Amino acid sequence: MSDWYEYIGVAHIHSTDSDGGKPVSDIIKIGQELGLDFLLFYDHMTLNSLHLGLEGWYGNTFVLIGYEINDQKNENHYLALGVNEVLPGEYSAPEYVRGIKQKGGLGIIAHPDETRETPKFPPYPWNAWDIEEFDGIEIWNQMSEWMEGIAHANRYRLFTAPRRFLTGPTSKTLKIWDERNKQRKVCGISGVDAHAHPFRFGPFKLVIFPYKVQFQSLRVHLILDQPLSQDKSTAKIQIIDAIRGCHLFISNYRQGEAKGFSFLAKSGEQRYRVGDSISLSADVSFSVHAPQKCKIRLLCDGKVVEEEKGKTLEYSVSEPGNYRVEAYQGKKGWIFSNHIRVVNSL
Ligand SMILES: [Zn+2]
Ligand SMILES: [Zn+2]
Repeated sequence: MSDWYEYIGVAHIHSTDSDGGKPVSDIIKIGQELGLDFLLFYDHMTLNSLHLGLEGWYGNTFVLIGYEINDQKNENHYLALGVNEVLPGEYSAPEYVRGIKQKGGLGIIAHPDETRETPKFPPYPWNAWDIEEFDGIEIWNQMSEWMEGIAHANRYRLFTAPRRFLTGPTSKTLKIWDERNKQRKVCGISGVDAHAHPFRFGPFKLVIFPYKVQFQSLRVHLILDQPLSQDKSTAKIQIIDAIRGCHLFISNYRQGEAKGFSFLAKSGEQRYRVGDSISLSADVSFSVHAPQKCKIRLLCDGKVVEEEKGKTLEYSVSEPGNYRVEAYQGKKGWIFSNHIRVVNSL
């Protein structure tokens, strides 16, 4: 993948600025130890650490600080990045989605289809789908999937091997995401939703998801056309633009290191990365490469058009549509890419 630069990080982290278990500075150290390129913090309704000047480079790890918004009923959670002020707490979802956009921020719908059956931890789904001004959807949220599991699965396994539980984004969320992309570019991203609180389970009290464990699960792989700048405001713009432009795929590290995975389109000598648009000419083809053997699926507008077991998939394109890739290890979701759009004419 010589034309582009891959940066791997973790999104949707909570700290003691709201209901997380450790201060931002301690969490950054954990990210650095794991070799993560970037960390995206989203505490509830506060930009405290941004105002303390904690955004920027820490060795090779870049830290960005946004915040998680909710409405007065604590519904419609929304992840905002690239803004300097917290919007008024009485705003409704349409008001804050538009407010973040007006301020030039990046807005992601958090855990959109949570359906928890745990009364103590109610679900926080998204129910304001008639708004258009958001940039992306958190298609895979580790906490949501795990909490849903509590109602159904073997609890002992859930608590002793929390990451083993992750199987992939729900088909409902993927459908909403694919449908939205027929109208316009909407990014799909993952979130660990890391809080690291102690959790009471019968007589036991334990931290189910220490940050170190969380950071070895759902990861965001940005595909940039330039290396990240050492200048912090430039690097911040590069990361936000890459997310807004859908130049990313997500992976579950538990199923294997996905670094080096690529999904690109070719037309003559030209190469296009994930998130790009390309006009349908005589010789458009896709090339998928995975770093390990897996089941690779190519989808067009949500429907599987090609499936291959191995490390590569090649496909010649004859129809316009929004194409994306899913890779599985057995039944477990491993990699989910954003779309490459093939249009009749640009
Ligand atoms: Zn939330
Ligand atoms: Zn959260």
